[in-house]
Amino acid sequence: MDTKAFKRSLQQSENYHRKGFGHQDEVADQMQSEYQSLLIQEIRDSNYSITRGDVTIHLAKAFGFCWGVERAVAMAYETRTHFPSEKIWITNEIIHNPSVNQRLRDMRVEFISVDSGKKDFSVIGDGDVVILPAFGASVQEMQLLNDKGCTIVDTTCPWVSKVWNTVEKHKKREYTSIIHGKYNHEETVATSSFAGKYLIVLNIGQAEYVANYVLNGGDKNEFLAKFAKACSKGFDPDADLVSVGIANQTTMLKSETEDIGKLFEKTMMKKYSPDKLNDHFQSFNTICDATQERQDAMFDLVEEKLDLMLVIGGFNSSNTTHLQEIAEEEKIPSYHIDSVARILSANRIEHRELSGDLKITENWLPDGKIVVGVTSGASTPDIVVEDVIEKIFELKVLARV
Ligand code: SF4
Repeated sequence: MDTKAFKRSLQQSENYHRKGFGHQDEVADQMQSEYQSLLIQEIRDSNYSITRGDVTIHLAKAFGFCWGVERAVAMAYETRTHFPSEKIWITNEIIHNPSVNQRLRDMRVEFISVDSGKKDFSVIGDGDVVILPAFGASVQEMQLLNDKGCTIVDTTCPWVSKVWNTVEKHKKREYTSIIHGKYNHEETVATSSFAGKYLIVLNIGQAEYVANYVLNGGDKNEFLAKFAKACSKGFDPDADLVSVGIANQTTMLKSETEDIGKLFEKTMMKKYSPDKLNDHFQSFNTICDATQERQDAMFDLVEEKLDLMLVIGGFNSSNTTHLQEIAEEEKIPSYHIDSVARILSANRIEHRELSGDLKITENWLPDGKIVVGVTSGASTPDIVVEDVIEKIFELKVLARV
């Protein structure tokens, strides 16, 4: 399928919208009152630090809602204002934050249900409005919605579209896209739908396995079993790893994406000689600024002397998980929570481990004076961070009486 041509024709259709509808001011006020926080503003204004009683909070210097998320949520709000009585659907969570998704449900935006891993698009009627979330939708979904005559409001973040353009460039040159990401993450599903041949690697370990196969060959069946869900149809590692281009899910750990890029650059140089590199390797920088800034701020934060760290964000949020990874690497007691409700008491906190399992840790909040690092993922509104900080203040006050 010529995905580029399809996108071009979709963008010319009068049923397709990728900008707001002129209700920005109204929506900005609404979002400010629902998601912003005076306490967080106060902490920002005091060089990202605040002390109350026994508690000092150090906030990361970049955290929370990114530009792309804010834009997507605002567009969803505008859609409701613009189509007050129409049926509005969304193909997936708008962003990975439970409170924001709930807010959309309250605004009568319906989520397309998934049955045995398949979305049920049959519920969408002629003339319904369908929102595509910040991390996009696959080209097949877009085509289906377009064929149904829906009004499409596309909130895909431009950084994500940039990755789609990158894999389309690989496709044009018949390069295989090596995508650093999670094969079942919505963004990577969408990105791979725009690619020609592709292989998705989760981490540097998988990338090393592939690089080794390129240089030394190996067990093809084992390779295909390992990447069964993470490669294009008919993928043949013996034939399809001759020329490769690098792309990524925008929220992966930046340093790891860079290492994967360097690894394949070196591998292709070794296999085909440095002067032939351009025929076998292509790389564009597709790491989003917001992800990069939040990770850099986290690296600065973990340099501080901290007693513990709280990483706040949706449990299915990839960028939040990577922030947690940074804290764990520094051996700081760190808890990934998605809302204040996970703080069960001064003694118990429920949190997500890197494995994805939920765990309850006892005695998580130390006695006496404490310094707490706080950050939040790109889908987390400030108000959620405020609730968590206020809870810590409250628990420490109660501990004194
Ligand atoms: S994290 Fe980056 S790519 Fe994702 S929505 Fe935010 S700005 Fe866009």
